[in-house]
Amino acid sequence: MQVVTTKAELQQFLKIEKKQQKTIGFVPTMGFLHEGHLTLVKHACQENDIVVMSIFVNPLQFGPEEDFDAYPRNQERDEQLADEAGVDYLFVPSVEEIYPHPLSIKLSVEKRVNVLCGNKRPGHFDGVATVLTKLFHIIMPDRAYFGRKDAQQLAVVDGLVQDLDIPIKLVGVETVREADGLAKSSRNVYLTDAERKEAAVLYKSLKRAEKAILEGERQPEQIIQLVRNCLHKHTNAQVEYVEIYQYPTLEEAASIYRTILIAIAVRFKKARLIDNLILDIPLAD
Ligand code: AMP
Repeated sequence: MQVVTTKAELQQFLKIEKKQQKTIGFVPTMGFLHEGHLTLVKHACQENDIVVMSIFVNPLQFGPEEDFDAYPRNQERDEQLADEAGVDYLFVPSVEEIYPHPLSIKLSVEKRVNVLCGNKRPGHFDGVATVLTKLFHIIMPDRAYFGRKDAQQLAVVDGLVQDLDIPIKLVGVETVREADGLAKSSRNVYLTDAERKEAAVLYKSLKRAEKAILEGERQPEQIIQLVRNCLHKHTNAQVEYVEIYQYPTLEEAASIYRTILIAIAVRFKKARLIDNLILDIPLAD
């Protein structure tokens, strides 16, 4: 595995690979790697000749009150994990390499952002769309891999590649979980032992919602209430939102049918956790 810190060097390497007709899979991350990230790499390895992973904690997508400085980092460990997982090129640029001067253009995401995290984190998805557009242009991969855990991000990136005609195939990968159901996340290290135990309730409440839907419940309000009750009963964390939308449009779901997203965000003392389920519900029962 080559560790590369500059755009020029990475493009030099990739030019040679592309000349040999190699296909390129790209896995963008913010590092502090866990099995979720490595599962994206596994998919990328299966479907491409070459895999590029980026590790870049993007200041543009963090709000002033958010954890940019405190975001967990461990490059040495990440290099080892990425290498073992089969990454060919690990791109770890500095902030100055990606943003050498104040940007003259930033992207502004118009749809799929007025709900969920986009609503709570103004400007967050503008930052995500801007950095991904830069990374897509630098790498020009055939495929890019994203976790369904960040379902709104995947929906926004889907809009980005469609609307800006970016010739990349997006691949959404199922959420990887701990044994008790907690979605793997770099931010789980912020949880105290007691919070870590409580955090399993996010997935449990989603599975309870799924059960109710499979038993015939079709009213979004009822499902939301059920999830809220479950969360309140089993955790002291502050529930930021429980919402249901059509997916990937993130338009209002008047009833539970077709592809729907049930999404949760809760705040523990130091960690904000998100989780979701995407369900396909046939129109007629
Ligand atoms: P991050 O480093 O948190 O920006 O995540 C980088 C990529 O890994 C994103 O596409 C995430 O959706 C994905 N990812 C993070 N956690 C998981 C997980 N538990 N399962 C699957 N994908 C994940």
